[in-house]
Amino acid sequence: MSAVASTCCVICREFDGVRTPGQVHHVADGSNPRSSFMTICLCESHHVGHVGLHGMGPKKFCKLFRLPNEFYLLGLQNKYLAIDRGSR
Ligand SMILES: [Zn+2]
Ligand SMILES: [Zn+2]
Repeated sequence: MSAVASTCCVICREFDGVRTPGQVHHVADGSNPRSSFMTICLCESHHVGHVGLHGMGPKKFCKLFRLPNEFYLLGLQNKYLAIDRGSR
């Protein structure tokens, strides 16, 4: 879980190029028993704030950031995990 949080907010990194420490979000929370594998890092405002996934709901959130769906965030998370791993 700490590896996920170490990438910082994936939205901030992808769209603003900045690293904002964040919280672990479970993608499709509750609907998947294996959801512990499906975790991403989001800062507080992109998680529960008024421009957050929970604040707006996944549909509006994806529309705002032009994401095909919530699962696209997992791809971003994996991308930044790989980048961080390679830079060490
Ligand atoms: Zn953020
Ligand atoms: Zn969450």
